[in-house]
Amino acid sequence: MAEDSFDLVVLGGGPGGYVAAIRGAQLGMKVACVEKEDALGGTCVRVGCIPSKALLDSTELFDQIRHKSKVHGISVGEPEIDVAAMLERKDGVVKANTDGVKFLFKKNKVEWVRGFGRLASADTVEVEAQDGKKRTLKGKHVLLATGSVPVELPFMPFDGERILDSTGALALPEVPGHLVVVGGGVIGLELGSVWLRLGAKVTVLEMAPTILPGMDAEIVRQADKIFRKQGFEIRTGTKVTGAERKGEKVTVSVEGAEPIEADYVLVAVGRRAYTEGMGFEEAGIPMERGVIRVDERFRTGVGNVYAIGDAIGGRMLAHKAEEEGVAAVELAAGKHGHVNYDAVANVVYTWPEIASVGMTEEEAKATGREYRVGKFPFSANGRARAMAETDGMVKVIADAETDRLIGLHILGPRASDLIAEAALAMEFESSAEDIGISVHAHPTLPEAIKEAALAAVGRAIHI
Ligand code: FAD
Ligand code: NAD
Repeated sequence: MAEDSFDLVVLGGGPGGYVAAIRGAQLGMKVACVEKEDALGGTCVRVGCIPSKALLDSTELFDQIRHKSKVHGISVGEPEIDVAAMLERKDGVVKANTDGVKFLFKKNKVEWVRGFGRLASADTVEVEAQDGKKRTLKGKHVLLATGSVPVELPFMPFDGERILDSTGALALPEVPGHLVVVGGGVIGLELGSVWLRLGAKVTVLEMAPTILPGMDAEIVRQADKIFRKQGFEIRTGTKVTGAERKGEKVTVSVEGAEPIEADYVLVAVGRRAYTEGMGFEEAGIPMERGVIRVDERFRTGVGNVYAIGDAIGGRMLAHKAEEEGVAAVELAAGKHGHVNYDAVANVVYTWPEIASVGMTEEEAKATGREYRVGKFPFSANGRARAMAETDGMVKVIADAETDRLIGLHILGPRASDLIAEAALAMEFESSAEDIGISVHAHPTLPEAIKEAALAAVGRAIHI
C-alpha cells in the first residue's frame, strides 16, 4: 500500500474520531486520523468534558472546605483561591489526557496527520498543514467526525474577552464580580457552578420555562430549588435581546426587564455541527441544516463515507460519539456494530449531580403506556447521611405491564458514577425488580437505586 493510502481515514481527532481510529487499527486496518489542532482529543479533551470537570473538582473541594468542613466538626478558617494555580492544574490535566491519546495512537500505529482536512471525493481527503504543505490521503473507508462548535447569538457575538463561549469561561483570569450566563443548559450550570463556588454572583438567563429543558421535570424542579439556595440567580422565560460592551463591563438587555450589568457574559445556548468549508456538500454528502445525515449503519450513502459524533446530531455527548465511532468502524470492517441509544446516560456535573438514562416521566406519559414510578430520597440513605449529602433522590420508571426499566433519574451526590448501574440495567433490559433484588453493599449510595426500584414494585424497605 502506498504511503498515503489507508484502509481508514478519519477526519477529526475528538472522542468520536480518535476512538474509531484506534478500533480500526485493532481490527487490522492501516489508519490515518486528520486533526487540525495542536493536540488530539477534540472538544471533549481540550476544551470540554475534561477541563470543565477539572475546574468542577477544584471548586467542589473549595466549596467543601468553605462550607461543609464545619458540618464535620473541622475548622480550617477561610480558604483562598489562587485562580492562576487552579487553571494551571486544569491545563495539566488536559495535557495528560491529550498526551495519552497521542501515546495510544503510537501504540496502535495510527498516523496523526496534522492539518485541516477537506473531502475532495468519496475516497480522498486533502490535508493542508499549518505551514501550507499539502498531502493527499486515499482511504478505502472515510469517517467524518468533525464535531461541533458553540452557537453564537447574532446580537451578542463572542469577543474573546468579556462575551465568551465555554472555552473562554474555562480560562477566566479572575473570579468575576458578576457573571451573566445566557442559557440554563448543561454548560451554563456547570461553568456557572465553577465561578459561583469561588464567590462570583451568577445570573442565569434561560429562554425556556425551566432550566435544563428536556430533562425529567420533577428532578429539574428539585435541582432548580437547590441551585437557587446555592446562590444562583435563575431567571427562566427570559429573552435576551443584546449586549453592549463598555470597557470592562457588559450591559445585557433583556425583553421586558431592566438591563443587567455584568463583568463577563457566558453565552451557552447550544452547539451546532461543524461541517462547513470541508467539501462535504460538494462531494454530495447529505446534510440537513449543517448536520450530516446517515443511515442506521452510519453511512452517508456516498462511497464508503461514514459519519459519527456531534457532526451527525442527536445528543452531543462524548460517550455517544465514542460508541458511534466504534460501531461505524466495526460495520465498515464487516462486523456487527450497534449503539443502544436507550442506554446512553446523560450527566450534569453540578453539585449535587444530575444523571439520567432512558425516558423521562413526561416521555413515558407521551407514549400512552402504563408505567410505575418508584422514588427514594437520599435523606433516607445511610451513606448519604454519613457524607452529609442528603439532597436529591432516585426516580425509577418501569413499564407497568412488564416491569421493564424504561427510565432512571438521579439528583444527588456522585450521580455521575451511580448512573452506570442504570445504564447497565437498560442494556440488559432489566426489570425494576431485577435491580431491587440484586444485593447492594451497605452502606452505599447505590442502595438508593435499589430502594427506588423496590419502591416501583411496591416493596421499598427503608421508606
Ligand atoms: P469533537 O470533540 O468536536 O472533535 C472533532 C475534532 O475534529 C476536533 O478536534 C476538530 O479540531 C477536528 N476537526 C474538525 N474539522 C476538521 C478538519 N476539517 N480537519 C481537521 N480536523 C478537524 N460530553 C460529555 O459526554 N460529557 C461531558 O462532561 C461534556 N462536557 C462538555 C463540556 C463543554 C464545555 C463542552 C463544550 C462540551 C462537553 N461535552 C461533554 C460534549 C463533548 O465534548 C462532545 O459531545 C464531544 O467532544 C463530541 O465528540 P466528536 O468527536 O464528535 O467531536
Ligand atoms: P444546552 O442545549 O444544554 O443548553 C442551552 C440552553 O440555552 C437551553 O436550555 C436553551 O433553552 C437555552 N437557550 C437557547 N437559546 C437561548 C437564548 N437566546 N436565550 C436564553 N437561553 C437560550 O447547550 P449547552 O449548555 O450550550 O451545551 C451544548 C452541548 O454540549 C449540550 O447539549 C451537551 O450535549 C454538551 N455538553 C454536555 C455536557 C455533559 O455531558 N455534562 C457538558 C457540557 C456540554
